[in-house]
Amino acid sequence: MELTVQDIVAWIEKANEKMQANKKYLTTLDQEIGDGDHGINMARGFQEAADKLTENDYPDTGAVLKDTAMTLMSKIGGASGPLFGTAFLKMSVAAKGAETLDHETFKHGLEEAVNGIKQRGKAAEGEKTLVDVWAKMADLFNRETDFSADKIADEAANAMEQTKDMMAMKGRAAYFKERSIGHIDPGSASSQYIFAALADIIGGK
Ligand code: ADP
Ligand code: MG
Repeated sequence: MELTVQDIVAWIEKANEKMQANKKYLTTLDQEIGDGDHGINMARGFQEAADKLTENDYPDTGAVLKDTAMTLMSKIGGASGPLFGTAFLKMSVAAKGAETLDHETFKHGLEEAVNGIKQRGKAAEGEKTLVDVWAKMADLFNRETDFSADKIADEAANAMEQTKDMMAMKGRAAYFKERSIGHIDPGSASSQYIFAALADIIGGK
């Protein structure tokens, strides 16, 4: 795996397409166990990030990821904005000065992203948050070095599905206690789109 600056820009553009296409669905998920703004938040944040990236030239992958992080951090809003911002910021630090991202660097960046989200959200795996998808993706990149794009997409979809049976322990959904069981976590669903977009880019779609 070798991601160029152009690949990262394409990744964010693809993720944005998915956020726009699934804005209503993400909002519906957040209406079940939250306040119903997640689709609006993600669609706004990723649109701003995609616009920003196409307006600029970047010297290395770290710089693209950093601009993405800053935009997501300030434009998504809600509880999830700082968390997605932190994830991309941690990846940008790992990618600092790297013209291309190889498997090793990406793996390290993902690990740091997971640590950053956990720390910022004071969240652990199994608490029905976006941590459940990001941690599973870091595990995948740690476990295997040679895998197909489909594997990334499948793993992300599985991780998202698994949040359905969990009871929410963090964020607004935690107020629903047992009633949060049976619903997919909105932040896990949007995270799944981010990794499905990555799979599209790696798979050359
Ligand atoms: P808000 O909850 O402020 O309305 P969003 O609706 O945009 O923000 O985002 C909700 C998502 O954020 C949840 O589905 C969950 O995945 C994630 N989330 C919320 N609080 C936390 C936390 N403390 N740690 C990790 N993730 C969290
Ligand atoms: Mg919300």
